[in-house]
Amino acid sequence: MDDVEVYISETSDKSTEHGILIITDVIGHRFKNVQLVADTFAKNGYFVYMPDLFNGNPIPLNRPDDFDFPKWLSNYGTGVEDPIMEKSIKTMREKYGVKRVGAVGYCFGGKYVVRFLKPGQIDVGYSAHPSFVQEDELKGIKGPFAISAAETDHIFPTEKRHRSEEILKEVGQPYQINLYSGVEHGFAVRGDPEKREVQYAKESAFLQALQWFEEHLNIQRRLSLIFSIDYSDTLYTSVKPHLMRLPSFPNIIRTLYAFSNTTLRSQPIVKSLGQPLQRATIRSMPTIPFLGSLFSSSTSSSQKMSYPDERTPGDWQAVLNKEQFRVLREKGTEAPFSGEYDKHHPSQGVYTCAGCQAPLYKAEHKFKSGCGWPAYFDAIPGAVTRHTDSSFGMARTEIVCSNCGGHLGHVFKGEGYNTPTDERHCVNSVSLKFNKDDPVTGNGQAK
Ligand SMILES: [Zn+2]
Repeated sequence: MDDVEVYISETSDKSTEHGILIITDVIGHRFKNVQLVADTFAKNGYFVYMPDLFNGNPIPLNRPDDFDFPKWLSNYGTGVEDPIMEKSIKTMREKYGVKRVGAVGYCFGGKYVVRFLKPGQIDVGYSAHPSFVQEDELKGIKGPFAISAAETDHIFPTEKRHRSEEILKEVGQPYQINLYSGVEHGFAVRGDPEKREVQYAKESAFLQALQWFEEHLNIQRRLSLIFSIDYSDTLYTSVKPHLMRLPSFPNIIRTLYAFSNTTLRSQPIVKSLGQPLQRATIRSMPTIPFLGSLFSSSTSSSQKMSYPDERTPGDWQAVLNKEQFRVLREKGTEAPFSGEYDKHHPSQGVYTCAGCQAPLYKAEHKFKSGCGWPAYFDAIPGAVTRHTDSSFGMARTEIVCSNCGGHLGHVFKGEGYNTPTDERHCVNSVSLKFNKDDPVTGNGQAK
């Protein structure tokens, strides 16, 4: 760009509709770390433009002790950087056809993201540990702005962060400030990946930026991200990154519950900057059928089997409520911790099929699994039939009512629960009806 060197990272399909302008820290645009960050944004579908702000004269990564930082810095104020900003934005929009410009500012660069966060210039801003941003500059923003902040940061210390929070609230634009413990100023680019907490914060800050742009810059894609799930139970925290890499995943919460219903809870959390979200998956989203049909498309053979109770879908619709029909007849999954019998632990009684009333489980079979759905270590003999369910690219064992074929849930083995069978029948409450007086004697095989 004229006399300014630029690092450009292109998307795999060369699309430029959504662009990200990276305004670097004082180490500059040739720094390998920030180039890797740029490439990772590009892998996620953003055309990335990263100009040299320092005329080929950035600060060395490991500067000598006698390096005169104030003197160096005095060469690069707004007088130098504002024209580079203007030219960069213009080039992105006019030469490369970028329609929406997001900007990422690290340290030194944060100030310039703030200064240019205005219609026609930068549409959406993000900064990690911003440096030297003045109150008036922050008050002047006209677009969404997010910040990743370090616990230890003498340039963006706690007081300044709190003041920024007040200002952002007054400004009224969407904002977000995330604070990361155990890290210092510069962590989002220069953090030491050997230190676990630093690597975590660095990757989280990157995901924060990515999610911010998906939400505000590239709105039609926002549902493709999967961060909107309930992490209140450890079962779900471990599921998150794994889901990103599944070959196909639907984009709604209920489906996450379906996954959570499985035994993914011990999957390790692995997500590095080198493994971007699966673009191909996201692209294919619109063709993924809605949940109900997704479940029905399961390769389970249960629907083709015949059962003593042969009512038609129409018959079932007449006797079941919507949620019962969705779960029992369309193999849906209720949200975890939401079911009537999740925390239900009677001393006696029988759980029958909510569809056909066949007795399925006795109260004595039930145990506390903590998984969010009713759990039984065994069923009334013959009452429950198993099928292999290969939906979602994993083999699971589906369980259905032997009398009507109604979907109950899945069964998992060898999880280490202290029960006689070491099996867990993970059953939707909505598939069941509890009957405390049912005099079942153990022969639950329905006619
Ligand atoms: Zn049934």
